[in-house]
Amino acid sequence: MTQEQGPVCPHCNENLQPFELPDNTGWETGFQLACFNDECPYFVRGWEHMQEKYAVKASYRYRVDPTSGKASPLAVWSTDAIKDRILDANVSADSDDTPDDGSSS
Ligand SMILES: [Zn+2]
Repeated sequence: MTQEQGPVCPHCNENLQPFELPDNTGWETGFQLACFNDECPYFVRGWEHMQEKYAVKASYRYRVDPTSGKASPLAVWSTDAIKDRILDANVSADSDDTPDDGSSS
């Protein structure tokens, strides 16, 4: 079984995961890629950085816009933030005979 190598986080080498964007963000794409590894050094350092600089309990994750390929920080307010928006990347792995899949965004 060959596994397609997707983009990985340059900070921790974990696979980036697609997540759905909230509405009204003005982004052209419906999803973006981010590193959701809680032990990612980029994410871990973010807590200290935000606390020292802005005295807020927040951090950011490594995020990539798939259309432009540009990386930018994704601000999060907890380790679980945005995680409920992660899209199931395995959904296309074993597609069965689902009768109706005509839903579009
Ligand atoms: Zn990472």
